[in-house]
Order: sequence, then C-alpha cells, then structure tokens
Amino acid sequence: MNRILIVSLLLLNGFSLNGQTRDLSKPKLVVGIVVDQMRFDQLYKYEERYGEGGFKRILNEGFNFKNAHFNYTPTVTAAGHASIYTGTTPSIHGIIGNSWYDQFNEVEVGNVNDATEVIIGSKDDNINGTSPRKLLSTTISDQLRLGSNFKSKVISVSLKDRGAILPGGHTANAAYWHDYQTSPGYFVSSSFYMDNLPDWVTSFNESGIANTYLDTVWVPLYPISSYSESDVDDSPYERILRGKSSPTFPYNFKEIRKPYRELGVEYQMLWISPNGNTLLTDFAIEAIENESLGSDSITDLINISYSVPDVVGHTFGLQSIELEDIYLRLDMEIERLLNYLDKTIGKDDYLLFLTSDHGAIQNAAFLNKHKLPTGIARINEYEKALRRHIRSKYRNESLLLKFDYERVYLNRKLIDESGLELRSVQQEVADFLINLDGIRLTLTASQLQNEEYKTGTRAQIQKGFHPKRAGDVLLAFEPGLIQNIDPELKINTVQGTTHGSGYAYDTHVPLIWKGTGIQKGESTRKISITDIAPSLAMILNLQMPNGTTGIPLMEILK
Ligand SMILES: [Zn+2]
Repeated sequence: MNRILIVSLLLLNGFSLNGQTRDLSKPKLVVGIVVDQMRFDQLYKYEERYGEGGFKRILNEGFNFKNAHFNYTPTVTAAGHASIYTGTTPSIHGIIGNSWYDQFNEVEVGNVNDATEVIIGSKDDNINGTSPRKLLSTTISDQLRLGSNFKSKVISVSLKDRGAILPGGHTANAAYWHDYQTSPGYFVSSSFYMDNLPDWVTSFNESGIANTYLDTVWVPLYPISSYSESDVDDSPYERILRGKSSPTFPYNFKEIRKPYRELGVEYQMLWISPNGNTLLTDFAIEAIENESLGSDSITDLINISYSVPDVVGHTFGLQSIELEDIYLRLDMEIERLLNYLDKTIGKDDYLLFLTSDHGAIQNAAFLNKHKLPTGIARINEYEKALRRHIRSKYRNESLLLKFDYERVYLNRKLIDESGLELRSVQQEVADFLINLDGIRLTLTASQLQNEEYKTGTRAQIQKGFHPKRAGDVLLAFEPGLIQNIDPELKINTVQGTTHGSGYAYDTHVPLIWKGTGIQKGESTRKISITDIAPSLAMILNLQMPNGTTGIPLMEILK
C-alpha cells in the first residue's frame, strides 16, 4: 500500500490550505460514532481502567450531556440510528423498528431490505438487497451533501447493515457493512450506491484480515479476578456459545467458529469478539485514508457504528466480564482512532460526537435474584388471550392479523367487510389487553392520530408511531419486564439482555462531543437524541434534515 505516500500528500494538502482559504470555524471532518447498546453508566462503570486517550479524553476535552435520552419507543438499533441522524423520531422518519409488519401486504418488512437492489462484493448472490428507501426523511449526511452541492463526502461503516445505511441517508457516497452470512466475511455495499467495490475495499477484503481476526483466542486483558465491576465469569446469566460447556474465558474462536460454519454464520463470531471492533476501526481508517476524507476545506463526514457491544450484551448480559473486557478494549480502539485523526486530520480540525442507539436492561434473572422488579411480558400468552376474546366477541378470530411484541395489527379489510367500525374494534382490543398482567398502557391508532401527547409514555409511543407501519393498538409494559415469545421461559433461567422499552435503562445513553468549535463542559439538562442532527446543522451552517423535531444544543459551542 502507498500509505506513506498518501499520508504525506494529505499533510501537504492540508498545509497549503492552512491560513489561506480554509474557514477555521468549520471542521474538515465530522466523525459520528455510535456504540451499539452503550448505556450512559458504561462511560463511568469501567472508568478506572479506561486509558487517558479514549472515552476519558473525549470527556476531559469535550462536552458531556449527562442526561441524553431517546424520546420514543421501541428503543432498537434501526430506529436509534435513524433518529440520531435525521433529528426526528420514527413517527416522521418511518423506521419504527428493526422490522415491522406490513398489514396491507401481510408481510414482515426489514428496515433496510430492498429486493430491487443487490449486494455488491459478497461471495453469495442470494443475500437480500438493501437500501435506505424506507427512511422517509433526510439525514444530516444528506444535508451536508446537499449543502455542499455534493462536494462533501459521506461514508458510513458498521458491522451491521442498518448501522451503516441509515446514518448515511439517501445520498451517502457509500455505506459498507460486514457480510457475516458469507465466507470469508467481507465488507460489502449495495447497488444503491455503486456497481463495484472500490479497489481499496477489495484489497482490504482480500488481505484475509477478517479470517486472521477470527482465528484467535479471546483472553481477558487483565487477570479474571480483577474484573471487580462484573459478576463471576461462570455465571448463570450468560448464554453459552456452541462448542463450549460454560460461558467462560478463554474463547477460542478457532474452535468455536466450526459449529457456526455449519449454520452459515461463521463470520458472525467476529461480532462477539473484541476483534470485531478492531476490524471496524481498521476499515474506518482505510476509508478515511483512501477516500481522502477531511483532506481539504470541504467538510466530510464518516459515520462509524460499533456493533460488537450490542451482540456481547445480548449474549452475556450487563454483569458479564465479557462485556467489561469489550468496553476496556473498545476504549483502546477509540484511542487509536483519535490518535489517527489527530495525526491525519489535525487535532482541532475534526469534530466528533459519540453516542448510542439504545441502552439495555440488566439480566432479568439477575434482577429477580436481587429482588428488583422484573418479569416476562409473555407475548404468546397475550396473543392467545386476545384471539380467544376476539373469537367470542366477533365470531371471527381472523380479525387479528399479528401480535408483534408492542404492536397489534388488525385485519382492516376484514373489519370493513364485516360491517364493523375499525375504531371500535381497536378500542375493544385496547380495553381487553389493559387487564392483562404486565401491560401498563394501551393506545389505539385512532387515539394516536387524533390526540397530541406532550409527555410521558403516551408521547413516547406516539413518537414511535407511524400510521402505515405501526398497526392498530400499541402497548407499554411495566418497568423491568422483558418481552418474550417462548412459553417455557422461566424468570430464573433468562440469559443475556435485551432492550426496547421507554424506561431509563433503555433510553439513557452517552452523548459526548469534542473538536472544532466545541467547548469543554457538561450539562445535566435533559436533552433528546434528536437534538444531535440539528446541532450539527447549526455548526456546519446547513439546513436541518427535513423532518427535524430536535433542538440544537447551543451550549456546546465556543
Ligand atoms: Zn440489540
């Protein structure tokens, strides 16, 4: 690689522009970092062993919003990434979940799935295509492209497709993600963006780096006994990976990958390894390098979404040594990225924000053991009870199309043909469900269309409600409950964690800023994740994304 040559050219370029034409108040590069499933407390919980150059450096040099929340439900990855970058909520940008039910065509729909496109760079032609077409509003990435007459470059990278595609919006130059379904785990893109992968992506893939990173043994950074912020290594709250007999270190991925190879997801093992974060950092740096991001006076943008903390959290839970070790190592990756940016872009010439797409709840069995409120919202039992009720009330259980966790979809066509009034059937369902254990609130689509809720759970549900996608009756469960469809699941055998509610454990996430134009400070003002995109619009003198409902965070500016 001509890395040295490219670096020196970049330096020369930046040098010649300094003091001549460059507007010093504007960053050369904006770096958006999303850490998937990072809770607010994880900035602090492990801080004793964070280095000075990673999370702590952003906290020390930048601006920290200690009370940043998601303001809608459900709090899941696709909705989170879309909301961060559009400055608005699912009710407007339309990404109401990772998937949702299309009650008009009676099919389940994935947030970025698009059969009209194909994957570019995969070894497997049969993987479904993707695009951002279901995202109904513009992102700050789009506004940067539009505002610069498409001279600004925008690149989005993640292990997850949705973590890359949604932040980039409709006009990103490229989004790349990790194809875990196909060996040997290449970074791929969509025909929405390009016909062929750029040479640098192909070289990165063909270097075999994904295989090298997978063929490793994960041992903790420090002696196991020193992980004082976590439970014991062999804990009942953790899932056990195939090929292992306990949820304990070391994780020999050379061995573990074999059973997963048979399932066709061998390379997804990188998503549960600290090397998944390293791979993504490597790839992000290659993108900055090879696409010359931040090399001139026109502001570019790179969106980086770290997926591994979410997968490790789901698998082992918040009390696991595995997760603690992932954060200690991610801190080192952030430090490596910052050092690279300092050197290549210039310490004061990039603007960075770091946040998350949602939080997570403590493991339910762990909560139960410690006498904290928890339980299981048993979706299959709710569905059975509702079906029985609809059968006895209307003599036709087909009126219920789908019970999709916190959303109930009715067969509107059948209701109409039966001479029933949709609004009254919705109300009947809502009134029935509110009597069931664990359900705290029910709202009908008619109520959501006709009322405007300003605060509380009703407002959260409304901000997550899109009339074409979110069904007929929407639910909120009691705090501490996890949703599950397995009728056999017992509270004391729950493993790992989950997220999706409107409670603080799922809504409260880090939001820290650093770099060009940002002053040092912190605030405990309650702010919303949707405030990020309009803040960037203010800093960069851009029109806000078209659906923006957030408010710029003016206190971060010098
Ligand atoms: Zn998740």
